[in-house]
Amino acid sequence: MTSEYERLATLNKAYLWHPFTQMKEYNSSSPLIIERGEGVMLYDVQGRAYYDGFSSVWLNVHGHNVPELNLAITEQLGKVAHSTLLGMANVPAIELAEKLVEITPPGLNKVFYSDSGATGVEIAIKMAFQYWHNKGFRNKTTFITMDQAYHGDTIGAVSVGAIPLFHEVFRPMLFPSLTIPYPYPYRYGGDGMEAMDATLTALRYLLETRADEIAALIVEPIVQGAGGIIVMPRDCLRQMAELCREYGVLFIADEVATGFGRTGAMFACDLEGVSPDLMVMGKGLTGGYLPVAATLATDEIYNAFYADYEEQKTFFHGHSFTGNPLGCAVALASLKLMEERDMVEGVKVKASFVEQKLAALKDRPHVGEIRQQGLMIGIELVRDKASQVPYDWAERVGVRTSLRARELGMLTRPLGNAIVFIPPLASSIAELDEMTDILAESILYVTEKEGAVG
Ligand SMILES: *Cc1c(COP(=O)(O)O)cnc(C)c1O
Repeated sequence: MTSEYERLATLNKAYLWHPFTQMKEYNSSSPLIIERGEGVMLYDVQGRAYYDGFSSVWLNVHGHNVPELNLAITEQLGKVAHSTLLGMANVPAIELAEKLVEITPPGLNKVFYSDSGATGVEIAIKMAFQYWHNKGFRNKTTFITMDQAYHGDTIGAVSVGAIPLFHEVFRPMLFPSLTIPYPYPYRYGGDGMEAMDATLTALRYLLETRADEIAALIVEPIVQGAGGIIVMPRDCLRQMAELCREYGVLFIADEVATGFGRTGAMFACDLEGVSPDLMVMGKGLTGGYLPVAATLATDEIYNAFYADYEEQKTFFHGHSFTGNPLGCAVALASLKLMEERDMVEGVKVKASFVEQKLAALKDRPHVGEIRQQGLMIGIELVRDKASQVPYDWAERVGVRTSLRARELGMLTRPLGNAIVFIPPLASSIAELDEMTDILAESILYVTEKEGAVG
């Protein structure tokens, strides 16, 4: 008799191809198969419980199986699951658009829906490109991005991406972008001010010499996510946005990871009073329930497309599930809960608790740097603390630490040698206490007890 787990594991191996996964390695391991979730816990088919220590890849806000969110979906399901936004509207898509305009920085007044962060980014870069085209600036076609940027995996989003491990193989398919350094003082030496100076100097140089070719700058505001949870020095974002404005280049904020309270503000841009020309959101928009993304634009951008049909200024872009009513309904319910529970304020309190807990790790010999903004935490592990020499990638220190955390009852996924801790915003202090204990124990186990293995 094969168990239910064995049956599913066999089918998983036979039929599934997993994202960002070397299947040869994966297929030789025992797969984790999730069956259900409740609050901040996920349960596998064998009944084991795990804290969702990375919010199911940075999405989850209120926890799993939340009655209010479930209800919003079933109520909408009783009306209609999907109807298109091509040439018609639907109730939740309208109401959510109004809400998004209300909670985003001033000036963002129009909402264009899609279904993932990557498509939201595609839309932003196509809008920026066509904005200049429609205004008669046919040379403004190039984008500036930041070193180690991640904006999703479709070809346009990869073209403004800058993580060589993920992106280099596709280089021949991509359009070229200009890259400026991301301020990452720990790796590039100097202090925060010097790192920020290098970024701003590089940006100013490109803008001074080539603004007439440049359509937009795209940035992950305040926290660069997939690059390693790297937090910008204060005021860098604001100064970047100002430089773009000064030189007539659009500023695109990719808030896919940072949006919806994650950083201790509703949007990371709010931390420095930045109003971008285009803002992309996804992940936490639906509380992490359903795939909805949105690209918000200013009136200035919208109006550059607003013309008689014969002028050929229409934005010819859309997706089958654009403005999906189920997704929009659950997004509205999630935002309502966030307000009722004052969750953005809550993140600040929880973040300072986590910060104090993790301070105990600071002096450990293999903890290079602990980076945190709100409930977005990255812990960079190093072979040698004094010289900051990293672990060799082949040692898989991040992977091994995450596996240890899983054995101890918490799920997360590393970024190279950076351990990621991105708990659901709804996690209680007691839950965060246990999660940070597991985190610390896994790090110490792998870096001090096991030590480095080849
Ligand atoms: C996750 C992410 C994306 C891509 O979102 P998908 O929904 O996975 O396509 C884009 N930008 C940032 C900053 C992200 O973290």
